[in-house]
Amino acid sequence: MNLNIACINGDGIGPEIVTEAKKVLNKIATKYGHEINYNDVLMGGASIDANGVPLTDETIDICKKSDAVLMGSIGGNTATSPWYKLDPSLRPEAGLLKLRKSLNLFANLRPAVLYPQLSGACPLKEEISEAGFDMLIMRELTGGLYFGERKTIEENGEKKAIDTLTYTESEIRRIAIKGFEIANVRRKKVTSVDKANVLDSSRLWRKVVEEVAKDYPEVTYEHMLVDNCAMQLVKDPAQFDVILTENMFGDILSDEASMVTGSIGMLASASMNDSKFGLYEPSHGSAPDIAGLNVANPLATILSAAMMLKYSFDLHEEAQAIENAIGKVLDEGYRTVDIMSDGMKKVSCSEMGDLVTDRI
Ligand code: NAD
Repeated sequence: MNLNIACINGDGIGPEIVTEAKKVLNKIATKYGHEINYNDVLMGGASIDANGVPLTDETIDICKKSDAVLMGSIGGNTATSPWYKLDPSLRPEAGLLKLRKSLNLFANLRPAVLYPQLSGACPLKEEISEAGFDMLIMRELTGGLYFGERKTIEENGEKKAIDTLTYTESEIRRIAIKGFEIANVRRKKVTSVDKANVLDSSRLWRKVVEEVAKDYPEVTYEHMLVDNCAMQLVKDPAQFDVILTENMFGDILSDEASMVTGSIGMLASASMNDSKFGLYEPSHGSAPDIAGLNVANPLATILSAAMMLKYSFDLHEEAQAIENAIGKVLDEGYRTVDIMSDGMKKVSCSEMGDLVTDRI
């Protein structure tokens, strides 16, 4: 297969971690007989330095013409970097928001996996964490409260702030379809999270999810109220496969799920449109405090590349080969500094990339 991948190194540790992900992808290509063509483009701080803006039309165009986008992370030290003295519309993050919008990326996929080898980092009690967990939060990314009409008015001598939460049936349907499609290639369970006891938008959410569920008889589904879901995530995280939810609930729950894994350097993510196209990036930021030191954990980016193979190219065996290789490296006791513990062997960012590559 020919894989046409737009590649955004980004800022801070971005170039280091993307280099390791490319190393792993190249090994997969050799082993399984694929051809990868990388189109390197600039975005974020690197684009500000080169072009004066965080995202150019040329970058958007190249991403649109590619099959998928692989990204490191963007941004700098928000207190000291000159990028943050610019108008907010010209800062690194504005580039990412504009890119997501231009590519119509409405579905955010955030896996939260507790690897048995790293269960010591999990802040939950051992009796809860020992079973491990492997869930994916499917968050709607372009609608709801964050994109509704907002204003602050003066009423009866005091200020009143108004934010609007709206969802249309079609917005709910397309994310629900994505959720059921992804569950179908995982453990076939969807937990749809809402606040249907209070919110009209949640009642519509529930109705549309039920309609979509009819097309996926092999996937079981349940509804759960968001407050209960927040509790269940720390009480019994192993019960979840795909959590399907709207923008703000997903924002909060995905961070909670990440924290429960305890390992920021291990968390992949993807944002997809209604085709197979997606932008794949680690959940963490550009870690300017450790940039250039070759100590960053590249595994979140490597796992994001595995997600890309799975969801954009249907290369499930290849994705599994990457995940198995990471499992082996962890079994053998190799750790970057962020996941280091007593008795383990500390390795650099590039050594971790080499170890995973060697085990494919
Ligand atoms: P961060 O995730 O970059 O770093 C938080 C802490 O985790 C730091 O101590 C960092 O060293 C550590 N860390 C993060 N990733 C690591 C890895 N792979 N290996 C080892 N340690 C790792 O968050 P922050 O410091 O709040 O943000 C730094 C910059 O990143 C900011 O400019 C922020 O806006 C940007 N950011 C970008 C994205 C993105 O590109 N999607 C996401 C979040 C933050």
